[in-house]
Amino acid sequence: TESGDGERTDGTQKKAIPKGVVLGKDGKPCRSCTSFASWAAMTKKITSDSPSRTTVLPQSTAPPDDCPPDVEALGRSTWTFLHTMSASYPPQASPTQQNEMRQFLGLFSRLYPCWTCAEDFQEWMKVPGNEPRVSSRSEFGKWMCEAHNEVNRKLGKEVFECERWEERWRTGWGD
Ligand code: FAD
Repeated sequence: TESGDGERTDGTQKKAIPKGVVLGKDGKPCRSCTSFASWAAMTKKITSDSPSRTTVLPQSTAPPDDCPPDVEALGRSTWTFLHTMSASYPPQASPTQQNEMRQFLGLFSRLYPCWTCAEDFQEWMKVPGNEPRVSSRSEFGKWMCEAHNEVNRKLGKEVFECERWEERWRTGWGD
């Protein structure tokens, strides 16, 4: 029970969740689901609430290299892994290799540390026509590119020309 200004009837103040901070399923802020900028804004709020703390706030919008990744750093590293895995996939995959890749994608989409990202990815893969295409390197690479483009669209980023995925991730641009 609380009054309109966020103060509860027992006199305690409700902590507002800063904009952009995504909570984990445990109800605590989820670092790998949140951008560094939003995380830093939240940390700043906590710091100003506790004047005894003298944390120096980072000016950058990216986490330092030796800090836990935010949603963007985790995403970049993961796409590098996924597209590189497509690039090293066999030109023609055996039934066993196809099964293993389907299993990997099923587990990956459940275990990815940004749970909101993971749930959207799972939902996208269930839509008819979006199921993993794993028969060959060429098919799988294009499918992965389409999966990445789906996230690009959701985030308002440019979509990538999927005919060129192999130049980006396997052969290089050749210039
Ligand atoms: P990234 O999107 O990480 O791309 C890295 C590089 O890949 C680019 O520089 C480009 O050269 C190349 N590239 C771009 N598009 C393609 C493509 N279609 N095919 C091949 N190569 C390409 N972030 C969120 O905030 N919300 C989400 O819901 C979310 N869901 C995600 C789901 C998954 C499965 C993954 C792996 C990541 C998700 N992310 C999400 C992270 C997000 O996709 C980006 O990784 C992050 O925003 C950083 O973006 P970026 O602009 O640095 O480049």
